Amino acid sequence: MRFSVLAKDGNARSSVLNLANGNVKTPIFMPVGTYGAVKGITVDVLNKINAQIVLGNTFHLWLRPGLEVMEEFKGLHKFINWSKPILTDSGGFQVWSLGNLRKVTEQGVFFKSPINGDNLFLSPEVSMSIQRVLNSDIAMVFDECTGWPVTKKEAHNSMQLSLRWAQRCKESFGSKNSLFGIIQGSMFEDLRQESLAGLKKLNFDGYAIGGLSVGESKEDMLRILDDVVPLMPQNKPRYLMGVGTPEDLVEGVFHGVDMFDCVLPTRNARNGWLFSQYGDLKIRNSRYSSDKNPIDPYCNCPVCNSGTFYTRAYIHHLQKINEMLGSVLATTHNLWFYLDLMKQMRGAIEAKNFINWRQNFYEKRHVGV
Ligand SMILES: [Zn+2]
Repeated sequence: MRFSVLAKDGNARSSVLNLANGNVKTPIFMPVGTYGAVKGITVDVLNKINAQIVLGNTFHLWLRPGLEVMEEFKGLHKFINWSKPILTDSGGFQVWSLGNLRKVTEQGVFFKSPINGDNLFLSPEVSMSIQRVLNSDIAMVFDECTGWPVTKKEAHNSMQLSLRWAQRCKESFGSKNSLFGIIQGSMFEDLRQESLAGLKKLNFDGYAIGGLSVGESKEDMLRILDDVVPLMPQNKPRYLMGVGTPEDLVEGVFHGVDMFDCVLPTRNARNGWLFSQYGDLKIRNSRYSSDKNPIDPYCNCPVCNSGTFYTRAYIHHLQKINEMLGSVLATTHNLWFYLDLMKQMRGAIEAKNFINWRQNFYEKRHVGV
């Protein structure tokens, strides 16, 4: 993997990642395809909305369809008919989400399958071997996600365990694909710094900030970004995991983050929450029942602007009766909005105009649709 910073404006940076299956221009948002599908969206549409890289979920793909099928297809790309880059998470977050159903040991995590109750075991070595079979362009280390709130002692022990696991991941990965380390340490600056220092010694291809968006306040998240991002290597990609709102993405880029993923645009779309540069729409609200406008008249997505367009009234109707097309149209628009936001930020950084762009973004978001 090669990573080249093309332009900087303040801490914000525009760069390009050369991966096994193509280039990715950053800052970038990665649509989440948990089971190998960005819910309701074909690869054709992903290409139309200029998605550059998608995220696949190790935990879920391991359970279903399982590794035999993945081996048959020599990885996830052929199976899902997507030829561009893929990043896979490690399964750490999903195992953490199982709560009391899991038992964490030094060796790894024992848990019962949420599908059929089978006894399962995930460890750094197992996660690396699964991600090797998935053959993703970027694999993530298997770590322990720390919840919030948590005591400093618990956060410290958990972060230390994640560091020992990161070393085992690095030693057992055995692939030419890229491997990213994940900074843990909860909301404690010194623990975050200790985690980053330990990971840097292991020399990963990129570094991610994990354990945010777990219930902490916005102030806590920004405090950690303020403290940690400047210490992350300049010459490696920086990935903020599982975050977040359009505003979070803008603040992340402002701090110098390059990569993001979140289920927010896709999950919200299915619940009728549509993003727009002039504020968000709750399309199921009766005020849209006969609205002849597109979702956002200034949006160039295939739903709002394709010669003809789908009206708010129609999408309102589809969502009210739970017709799947209502989710598909809303997801297409929301993902376009997120991907276009990143493209705008790349342009503003390259034009050394990011601060003005950011101010303008906030002003517009408050106008209302
Ligand atoms: Zn649109």
